Amino acid sequence: MKKIVIVGAGTGGTAVANKLRKALPRDEWAITVIDRDDNHVYQPGLLFVPFGLCSVNSIIKSRKRYISGGIDFIIDPLKRINYEKNRVETEGGTFDYDWLIIGTGCRLAPEENEGLMDEWGENAFSFYTPETAARLSNVIANFSGGKLVMSVAALPFKCPVAPIEFIFLADWYFRQKGIRDKVELTLSTPFIQCMPNWPKGRLVMQEAARSKNITLVTDFVLSEVSREGKYIKSFKGEQVEYDLLVIVPTNVGDDVIVESGLDDGSTYVPTDKHTLKALNHKNIYVIGDATNIPTSKAGSVAHYEAEIITDNLLREISGKEPEPAYDGHSTCFIVSEKGKSFLVDFNYETQPLFGKFPLPLIGPFDLLKETRINWGGKLGFEWLYWNIMLPGKKMLLPPTLTMAGKKESPF
Ligand SMILES: Cc1cc2nc3c(=O)[nH]c(=O)nc-3n(C[C@H](O)[C@H](O)[C@H](O)COP(=O)(O)OP(=O)(O)OC[C@H]3O[C@@H](n4cnc5c(N)ncnc54)[C@H](O)[C@@H]3O)c2cc1C
Repeated sequence: MKKIVIVGAGTGGTAVANKLRKALPRDEWAITVIDRDDNHVYQPGLLFVPFGLCSVNSIIKSRKRYISGGIDFIIDPLKRINYEKNRVETEGGTFDYDWLIIGTGCRLAPEENEGLMDEWGENAFSFYTPETAARLSNVIANFSGGKLVMSVAALPFKCPVAPIEFIFLADWYFRQKGIRDKVELTLSTPFIQCMPNWPKGRLVMQEAARSKNITLVTDFVLSEVSREGKYIKSFKGEQVEYDLLVIVPTNVGDDVIVESGLDDGSTYVPTDKHTLKALNHKNIYVIGDATNIPTSKAGSVAHYEAEIITDNLLREISGKEPEPAYDGHSTCFIVSEKGKSFLVDFNYETQPLFGKFPLPLIGPFDLLKETRINWGGKLGFEWLYWNIMLPGKKMLLPPTLTMAGKKESPF
């Protein structure tokens, strides 16, 4: 019996496991998936928790429920990946593999940011985990005015659009509450121009922020949080004062990756950006946030990659070379207030453009435009996630970007 081991049963690990189980005969291939717990969090839902738009309980489901029959699901923290022996070690056992897929994602590391732990849970909060999002929701509900700063500590971090969505929703939330004039909203970000290098997209986002009276502080890489001074400081020496700090701390890959010698010093696994195979490892693929490839760390990306990795692994099993098929495709809704959202679709080479998605001329979604139908898409994404993406069902759309329906200008 040949063995595939998948470490991490998150968005990417679950989808690729289910796809492979459908494609490979059960009497020839054993598939094992390992995760530290049985709580699958629908992470996009975390954005809504601080504003009372969804509860933490509603976005956490049993991982087991989404892992197909015929796959062994092991709940046990990883200890080490011994790639020389083709073996994964957990706290409770060892698992030999012929092929390994790494899907261990990334985590918040607030301890990496000077001064942040002094304020963590007191005046500094994140919405990136269920626990911290729930705590932030109480704080936001009781915030009666002052300087609210949304800060991204450093690049790369997962879901590069979530901080701008957060600050847009904060504008909506405090307007509803009738205290918007008492709240100063600021977004500080390491991006040079508020967004990744998206010339057209960033103009749209900058205009949206301007119309909502949100201050953008760009090219700001966090060097320090000062509890005494109530300010954050960048490596260039710029300071931004806060009363309430909402922060995406430095993100890092899992410790096991580093301790197993699988990273390149960045805590992420060096990965071929087109085949998704680990560089220097002939029997390892990498999916989702654990890679070092230059596209968004996003669920849509992990989903597209699951399709590419399945195809490439099947090719290799049948003696063929993996295809350099992945193009960095990423698709993200960007909520602008409750009831409206933008949408972007891009890859390594093509920045977000205007037009319709997914069907040319018809849509129903509008690219780089704020619409109610896009908001419906953002809400519908949750259904798609649990019912199509995680079970590894085939989507009607290809995993790579299509130019059909896209245009350079909004007119
Ligand atoms: C607030 C927020 C909003 C987001 N919004 C969107 C959005 O709108 N659209 C979008 O596409 N994406 C969004 N994302 C990003 C998306 O959720 C992630 O990019 C995606 O889940 C990455 O999938 P993954 O499989 O790489 O990692 P994950 O889904 O994080 O899974 C990694 C798994 O590995 C396991 N693991 C790690 N280390 C170990 C270990 N040592 N032992 C055992 N198990 C281990 C973890 O428990 C986890 O289950 C958002 C993320 C956040 C935080």
